[in-house]
Amino acid sequence: MSSFTRWIGLLTDPKTFDSYMRYVEQVEPRIGAFIQFDPHLGLRGSSPEGLLRGVPFAVKDILAVKGFRLTCGSRILEGFVSPYTATVVEKLQRAGAVVVGKTNMDEFGMGSSTDTSFYKQTCNPWDPERVAGGSSGGSAAAVASGMVPFALGSDTGGSVRQPAAFCGIYGLKPTYGVVSRYGLVAYASSLDVVGVCAASVEMTEEIFALIRGKDERDQTSLEEAGTSGVEGFHEKNSNKIVRKIGFVSGNLGLDSGVERAYQKTQEVLRSLGYEVQPIELSMLEYYAPVYYTIATAEASANLARYTGIRYGYRPEYAENPEELVRKARSEGFGEEVKLRILLGTFVLRSGFQDQYYQRAQRIRTAIRKDFDRVFQEVDVILSPVFPTQAFKHGSEGLDPFQQKVADRFTTAANLAGIPALSFPAGLEDGLPVGFQLMAPVFGEELLFQVARRFAEAVPPLKAPFNTSPWS
Ligand code: GLN
Repeated sequence: MSSFTRWIGLLTDPKTFDSYMRYVEQVEPRIGAFIQFDPHLGLRGSSPEGLLRGVPFAVKDILAVKGFRLTCGSRILEGFVSPYTATVVEKLQRAGAVVVGKTNMDEFGMGSSTDTSFYKQTCNPWDPERVAGGSSGGSAAAVASGMVPFALGSDTGGSVRQPAAFCGIYGLKPTYGVVSRYGLVAYASSLDVVGVCAASVEMTEEIFALIRGKDERDQTSLEEAGTSGVEGFHEKNSNKIVRKIGFVSGNLGLDSGVERAYQKTQEVLRSLGYEVQPIELSMLEYYAPVYYTIATAEASANLARYTGIRYGYRPEYAENPEELVRKARSEGFGEEVKLRILLGTFVLRSGFQDQYYQRAQRIRTAIRKDFDRVFQEVDVILSPVFPTQAFKHGSEGLDPFQQKVADRFTTAANLAGIPALSFPAGLEDGLPVGFQLMAPVFGEELLFQVARRFAEAVPPLKAPFNTSPWS
């Protein structure tokens, strides 16, 4: 676990613990990455031994950690404390890593800015006037500002990769099902995966190797044959070598900074000896509409459980149970979440399912087949993550509709169930740009391989707000 050397033991030695706390006290007020920060509480849940002993990490507030709050960035879960811990978190705690806190996010994972959280705004460590991206913006900002070496997030349509790109770090969306979702609050169940934000490729790989694998408590989790354990995984995958990289071509509608960086990235990959060729993703224009049909449909069902009765926000007064539920939901959910529940019930309403939901499912199958076709020609795909760099908070930024249209590149991997890795590719106009690599299912190792070589040529850079002595 050499990539964590500087962080090992940090929280288990009282002296370094104090200097860590001082660093966070200085940085966090300007970034706002955390909804709850409590390393003392975290220490109680971790093994004092293991490869990651005393290494701090942060957890998106959509994953359960016993004793910590679990709000999903929503008022409707205000005050709720989790009675149990997600499998992914437990695996890291067993390796000695310490949860220092829960990170800010767009409410229930719905957004691309982290500005729709009920609790606070998260600022980009490269420029606080800009968003960190979303929905795992708190996790990405915590890593980019040097408060933690890695953090967990969730990715339903790009929520790990997009904030990673905005903050200049790595963001992995694993193959659907490869990481347990026990303890992950559901947004859209056929798309949700737990992902990793980290400061280096090596860290991303090591954390992925630790958290992956079948979990008896999650029926949808699975294991690639012959890859049981960290060694098995590396052994099975180490002999495949990437030669051909297909970059998504055509009129992609990229901002000039992203466009320039996209050209440069292709040239760097070519100079590293890869065969870099254009590919056409014929279904590209359907990704966002199909994603928003399926994701809102599933969200409307998943979010039916928040009634104000069993947990979370409860209105002061109600005449009867119906009114209690109505008030809890109207006061507890934010605008974006309400919009999506309405959209979801609209596409599922009786008599019209064939027009929207089932049609979206058929197009989703066609999208998968299109990726199968492309992976006959190339080993991995290079694509933009987002058409812009980190945008400004509020009305100077992108409105909610523009943000949805901009999800056209990331939603593909979720719809197809394939792994994708967002990696930093230098700066344009002083802000980071990130691109993503996509591979066939179980192809994570191929992504790491290319990203590792790319980092030798274009090393990741530290954000101005990152003065951490450990990163
Ligand atoms: N931006 C997308 C959305 O708003 C992605 C969210 C996610 O991956 N959780 O739905």
